[in-house]
Amino acid sequence: MTENNVILLGPPASGKGTQARKLADHLGVPCLGTGKLLRNEIDKGSPVGLEAKGYIERGSYVPDEIILKMVSEWLSGHSDGWLMDGFPRTIPQAEALQQTAKPTRVIALDVPQDELEFRITKRRECTSCGATVAVNCSQDHTCPECGKETLISRADDALESFKARYQNYEELTVPLFDYYDSLGMLSKVDGTKSPKEVFAEILKIVEG
Ligand code: AMP
Repeated sequence: MTENNVILLGPPASGKGTQARKLADHLGVPCLGTGKLLRNEIDKGSPVGLEAKGYIERGSYVPDEIILKMVSEWLSGHSDGWLMDGFPRTIPQAEALQQTAKPTRVIALDVPQDELEFRITKRRECTSCGATVAVNCSQDHTCPECGKETLISRADDALESFKARYQNYEELTVPLFDYYDSLGMLSKVDGTKSPKEVFAEILKIVEG
């Protein structure tokens, strides 16, 4: 059986995290969300978390050396198929991955900037079950997935920070499209559709 080593690319609030969770469940492979891993390190107050905190809050990318060390540790325990959400984000990261564990498919979610800005103001993360959801009212703290009152806004979802993250995405991550296209791995998906429709498109690519 061919291994599924899948990368999901997409700008902030494109629905990457939600699709990654569903796809990893469907394929029965572990999922590495580098952003989530870094937020856990920050919550623990670990040395990596302390180093990464400032970068994340400013909306900057965390330096490649820190990310690559974290990912190579994770990959040493997960070699039989995986899904990456938020990694690689730069050409040096993609080149390093190519040397260790080659992806089989790279899927890029496409969502225009004005739609992303609209989504980011409504986005909340559940600290109990890890779901990412959209709220209608800023006072809404109840998670529609697990029912607990544990929805929070991410610090880096403030509009200024979002703009910096989006600019980094355009400058440092969009070049990966050509990189993976030249390796014959890239597929683009319209991320403005409903999560269910986006998932169906992703499945067609992965299983087609
Ligand atoms: P995410 O949860 O994927 O939106 O990531 C949140 C933040 O973590 C990003 O804005 C970056 O500051 C940092 N981050 C996550 N993954 C990477 C990566 N592969 N390279 C550099 N920074 C990253």
